[in-house]
Amino acid sequence: MPIRLSSDDDVVRLIQLSKEPNAEKKAKEAGYRLVITDVFIAGSGPIGCTYARTILDKNPSAHVLMAEIGSQDHPVMGSHFKNSVKYQKDIDSFVNVIKGALQPVSVPPGDTLQTTLGEAAWAPPIGHALVMQGNNPNQEPGLNLRASAITRTVGGMATHWTCCCPLPHGQERVSNPIPKDEFDGLLKEAGNLLNVHDNQYDHSIRHTKVKEALLQELPKARGVSNLPLGVQRRSDNPEYVTWTGCDTILGQSIENNQTRFKLMTETRVTQLYSSFDPKMVEAVKVRDLNNNDDVLIVAKTFTICCGAIGTPQILWNSNIRPDALGRYLSEQSMAFCQIVLKRSIVESIPGDSRFKERVEHHKKQHPNDPLPIPFNDPEPQVYIPYTSDHPWHVQVHRDAFSYGDVGPKADPRVVVDLRFFGKSKISKENRVTFGPKEQIGDEWKAGNTDIYGMPQPTFEVKRSKEDGERDQRMMKDMTDIANILGAYLPGSNPQFMEPGLALHVTGTTRIGSDPKTSVADPDSRVHNFRNLWVGGNSVIPDATACNPTRTSVAYALKGAGAVNKYLEQFKPE
Ligand SMILES: Cc1cc2nc3c(=O)[nH]c(=O)nc-3n(C[C@H](O)[C@H](O)[C@H](O)COP(=O)(O)OP(=O)(O)OC[C@H]3O[C@@H](n4cnc5c(N)ncnc54)[C@H](O)[C@@H]3O)c2cc1C
Repeated sequence: MPIRLSSDDDVVRLIQLSKEPNAEKKAKEAGYRLVITDVFIAGSGPIGCTYARTILDKNPSAHVLMAEIGSQDHPVMGSHFKNSVKYQKDIDSFVNVIKGALQPVSVPPGDTLQTTLGEAAWAPPIGHALVMQGNNPNQEPGLNLRASAITRTVGGMATHWTCCCPLPHGQERVSNPIPKDEFDGLLKEAGNLLNVHDNQYDHSIRHTKVKEALLQELPKARGVSNLPLGVQRRSDNPEYVTWTGCDTILGQSIENNQTRFKLMTETRVTQLYSSFDPKMVEAVKVRDLNNNDDVLIVAKTFTICCGAIGTPQILWNSNIRPDALGRYLSEQSMAFCQIVLKRSIVESIPGDSRFKERVEHHKKQHPNDPLPIPFNDPEPQVYIPYTSDHPWHVQVHRDAFSYGDVGPKADPRVVVDLRFFGKSKISKENRVTFGPKEQIGDEWKAGNTDIYGMPQPTFEVKRSKEDGERDQRMMKDMTDIANILGAYLPGSNPQFMEPGLALHVTGTTRIGSDPKTSVADPDSRVHNFRNLWVGGNSVIPDATACNPTRTSVAYALKGAGAVNKYLEQFKPE
């Protein structure tokens, strides 16, 4: 029989017991699982790891316990899967890794309807929907972020992310409550932690040619530049790179502090408890998914970093439901196309003195190759930053997402991806809710939890008229820029992608000074609590177009500083 903590009385008894000597042993004798630590962190993505690293490094006595719902799927904790030679040789095959990593958040009933299924087969009765695996009978399809997804593995989404780490423009941080100079410093520190570089592709022929074509045709004010990436070329074999993952963020901290850091994998963080003092979280209930045991963890501080959906979900499930929880949700629009480089660009390569030697060497080695580009020439990594005249973020590069694999139809060396990210106006009405809606009766109960048994997230998200007009301008800009570079790859014509595909949901536990319109204070500490923090893109209070992780790491560095400060009171004399 699994060990369960089904009643609040059991939890209260265990919290009281935790204050006695040998509490963990006594709890075991009484048939419970109790763990006592200093710092509890939920979620092992880049933000949970930023908290872990900062606390382990700056607080030499603190013990840190991290719980992660996913398993450890790489021998190195949190490493980027794209560091394998296999994916660097064949970037298209990484598309399938990403596809496999993305579990949808909310699938409306209509998406489960099979109109061509033979009548003899079992199907749900008319008016009923399939309610397995995150399918959500309460989801209004028109308000869904259909492509929004969660990655459940040690390292979170940073096991597959593209590592773009631009700095946000002033207009992307207007609601940021942290003084500008301080936040600039935090962004710089975040860049170091994420090992951000913008010069690792400088020697690439394709990168140089694409960038020069854009610099030539676009006004200087567009600021065409190298994309800042969490990446470093390997010194042992410069053909390959090391992409930043959570192992990069953790550095040597885990190795150096093996006795002070513990990771519980395949462990669902279920509920926080505040049984004695409403301003303090005393414990968290987690479930060991391998044997379905509940474990109570008593700690001094609690930080929830479970992504922009998982973080508010845990707060909601813990009855911590401030007005702003799940609201002010912002997700970027995405326009996408792929082009095949113009003949004039490709044909200018052999005569370019900078590349002559490399091209001639390649031609000698591969006389049958009609392209004057070495097979190991790195991909282009160019970007056009957000400006007030063009308020969107542009990536002109070649990389794997859950879509956009080229296949055998074109030589990938001449294919360039254009990804344009548009912001969305902040609105209180754009939100994710959890669990059943009041007006729905028991009949939908089965659809009211997600695949892991947590309250089902439901989206209510619309783009405003202003967003629509901006998106239209962004699409035109994309087609103009595509035409500078080449012709559309058949099948990858300009298109808006499914809402949610950017995977950059922000705002659902936003920070701010006003508890009416935010969930946490500028230190990311949940309003009205002394020892509860939230971290991740959900803390970003702004409409951003650029990729959010560097900004979230910056907020987390400040939050972790506040955790350390709080822990000072427990330091041995
Ligand atoms: C294809 C792709 C490309 C991307 N490219 C970029 C990019 O170029 N630049 C950029 O800035 N961002 C990018 N991102 C997004 C980036 O990966 C995220 O912003 C970042 O990982 C967020 O970090 P996090 O730690 O807050 O959340 P996550 O990485 O999502 O980690 C949260 C962790 O919490 C765990 N969890 C959730 N619920 C529970 C629970 N109840 N109990 C225990 N654990 C739980 C999850 O399993 C997960 O491991 C990309 C993502 C993808 C998938």
